Amino acid sequence: MLVTGGAGFLGSHLCDRLIEQGHDVLCVDNFYTGTKDNVAALFASPYFELVRHDITFPLYIEVDSIYNLACPASPMHYQHDPVQTTKTSVHGAINMLGLAKRVGARILQASTSEVYGDPSVHPQKESYWGNTNPIGPRSCYDEGKRCAETLFFDYHRQHQLSIKVARIFNTYGPRMHPNDGRVVSNFIIQALQNAPITIYGDGSQSRSFCYVDDLVDGLLRMMETGPGLTGPINLGNPHEFTISELARKIIDLTNSNSELSYKPLPSDDPRQRCPDIARARSELGWEPKVDLAEGLATTIAYFEEQLREGRWRSIGGR
Ligand code: NAD
Ligand code: UDP
Ligand code: UDP
Repeated sequence: MLVTGGAGFLGSHLCDRLIEQGHDVLCVDNFYTGTKDNVAALFASPYFELVRHDITFPLYIEVDSIYNLACPASPMHYQHDPVQTTKTSVHGAINMLGLAKRVGARILQASTSEVYGDPSVHPQKESYWGNTNPIGPRSCYDEGKRCAETLFFDYHRQHQLSIKVARIFNTYGPRMHPNDGRVVSNFIIQALQNAPITIYGDGSQSRSFCYVDDLVDGLLRMMETGPGLTGPINLGNPHEFTISELARKIIDLTNSNSELSYKPLPSDDPRQRCPDIARARSELGWEPKVDLAEGLATTIAYFEEQLREGRWRSIGGR
């Protein structure tokens, strides 16, 4: 099994699970946002291999299944080099689809709720075509991922490839980057340091947060489905919270003295995001099991340890 982006947050948890299940796993990563630390525990297994490679370049190997997760996911990281972000989504998808075509592998794409842009329907069903800005600062990611979905479905129609497209909604958990600017990691680190909690806008915008173990379970289930199931399928937690509610929860769980500090809302920041997971329920028998307080407690414990050990990661890894 090939996992591109396997040294990243989601990819490393997926590699853990695949090795646990007894698979032979090849992790391919250029360490743009991922690190060897995330998969270091797997080096002990003879069934785990790590290759430094950028998927915008061709890759000739033999595999049965491909999980295509390579792509920076946080706005701060994907906007750092937007041209490379589009190349990773588009050229990377072409290369991985070309590989899947040559070796007859099944291929799963880690797509995103961002394909819905700033949605005008709520919650988002897979049948909704989205409301994206093609020329804004988030477009490299949103439109890159939309084009990757197009490529997946065209390889499916034109070359009969077995494809699986998962639209992942906000996911959190251990191994998120401490400094990637995402709301869960920012709030936890700020709360642990009793620093002001930075709320962008008035905090009334909403998100739904899925714990990483649940998400990985959804990806594994999707890959195991028969060739008739292509997706797209939303994977995320349908329980919706405002950003202000999230801030209060994290302050409570960390017993923090942090105060709230209101900052301008970034441009194109979606007002609401919540998955309709009816399709995942009926076609995968999947739904999230970990509630926010439980998932946050594990994530807080991880960040506490990272802070204690002074482990800060930045773009490009270490
Ligand atoms: P991440 O940044 O931790 O992981 C991405 C990994 O891809 C990193 O290890 C990075 O080094 C690697 N990478 C980036 N460009 C590459 C390239 N050109 N070649 C090889 N490797 C490359 O992010 P994540 O949160 O683990 O996200 C994984 C995937 O899931 C991404 O495709 C992302 O778009 C998608 N996704 C994540 C979320 C979320 O909430 N975490 C939500 C929606 C979609
Ligand atoms: N490719 C790859 N590994 C393979 C086969 C193909 O990386 O094992 C890449 C190669 O760069 C190619 C792309 O995938 O350009 C698309 O392959 P496809 O066969 O669809 O089209 P081609 O461009 O070869 O006609
Ligand atoms: N956000 C915030 N404070 C922060 C970081 C993010 O209020 O320190 C907000 C952000 O504006 C957005 C939401 O939290 O409305 C989720 O942001 P994130 O970057 O985590 O994910 P995305 O926008 O991709 O859903």
